[in-house]
Amino acid sequence: MIWDPKYEAMPRAKLKALQGKRLRDIAKRVYERVPFYKAKFDALKVAPSDIRGVEDLHRLPFTTKDDMRDVYPYGLLACDLKKIIEIHTSSGTTGKPVVDAYTRADIDLWAEVMARTFSMGGAGKDDILQNAYGYGLFTGGLGAHYGAQRIGAACIPISGGNTKRQLDVMRDFGSTMLTCTPSYSLYIAEAGREEGIDFSKLPLRFGFFGAEPWSDNMRADIEDKLRIKAFDIFGLTEIIGPGVAAECEHQNLLHVFEDHFYPEIISPETGEPLPDGEKGELVFTTLTKEGTPVIRYRTRDITYLSREQCACGRTHVKMHRILGRTDDMLIIRGVNVFPSQVEHVLVTIKGVEPHYQLIVERVDNLDTLEVQVEMTEDLFSDELKYIEQKERQIEHHLREALLVHSKVKLVEPKSIARSEGKAKRVIDNRA
Ligand code: AMP
Ligand code: ZN
Repeated sequence: MIWDPKYEAMPRAKLKALQGKRLRDIAKRVYERVPFYKAKFDALKVAPSDIRGVEDLHRLPFTTKDDMRDVYPYGLLACDLKKIIEIHTSSGTTGKPVVDAYTRADIDLWAEVMARTFSMGGAGKDDILQNAYGYGLFTGGLGAHYGAQRIGAACIPISGGNTKRQLDVMRDFGSTMLTCTPSYSLYIAEAGREEGIDFSKLPLRFGFFGAEPWSDNMRADIEDKLRIKAFDIFGLTEIIGPGVAAECEHQNLLHVFEDHFYPEIISPETGEPLPDGEKGELVFTTLTKEGTPVIRYRTRDITYLSREQCACGRTHVKMHRILGRTDDMLIIRGVNVFPSQVEHVLVTIKGVEPHYQLIVERVDNLDTLEVQVEMTEDLFSDELKYIEQKERQIEHHLREALLVHSKVKLVEPKSIARSEGKAKRVIDNRA
């Protein structure tokens, strides 16, 4: 079912005109209200009045994650702080995370785009959502929550983790929908099988999974084990959270809600826009957001766009599921982790060298992170007891910085392979 046919199935010419108008408005708004954008526009000698429609979008400046951190916490606000009713930050970053501040209208918009997302799979007011996305500063939990309520479904705000309870709730409350990371859904499936649960006997019908990369093979596995239809949903805090793009019933590419979030694909090297079908970096401009609108945000996610007509009747452009990243960001149990964050922690700790390697595995569908770090000669000659204490201490500091648990293993001095070029910091064995 199309939740909002007026906009989701709008004829393309009309949609383009609407986007053009919204782009002119947002360009003017950020220029007048956000000094950060005024300076960026001025540096490129572009004025809001130069923007006639989406064909002029490429003239506007990019926004990067670093830009956002530089103006932390409120430098992107385009309205009075009094109008803000909710604040979220991107997952996994500490120190200076990216801030998304929502007005009443932004929360309404979020509920709408998540209502569209759930409707794409066929969910409606008879459904019961087991929302196993994390609640809190992370956008996953509340975004899905608002969307479920908007379609009139019942939302169980169980949040992530506690798999035994997930299974009890699923069985006792008769959940028909599940939201969480795709890897956690498989973990639930396998824990359920061990408990002797026959998923074909449960009312669970569909899952909406995102926040980390996955594949069609993994989808087939999830659909088979949980006896559901599994849909890919995509979003990011910088734009609104979940609810930026989602798969329709054809499960072939994700429709981007482009009446609100205008996508472009650019060459990560030159920044030049690329044509449909070519792989490159995904860039978004928010066309309607009030609190923290963003112009041409470089996601560092790699994908391509397709404007082929979809049999579902929606006219919105589609994007392929995320194919990779232009940077070294890892997503571990749904949390964004940068190797550089590990380095920042290690340099503050006595007794270790900044020679380290991250080893990521998926064990029983749960991501694990081991951090191997070289000891100094001094520490190496110390008692084993002391070395183990050190490992626990580093684990504690890393947990605070990364927000995910890691296992630290101190290794002999000079035992981590040196590289002549870029150090190989990450060994990701999940794929
Ligand atoms: P966050 O801002 O913490 O919500 O993280 C957003 C990032 O998570 C995106 O830029 C993507 O790299 C990743 N992500 C979110 N949804 C998906 C998805 N469905 N498939 C692949 N990666 C995703
Ligand atoms: Zn479709």
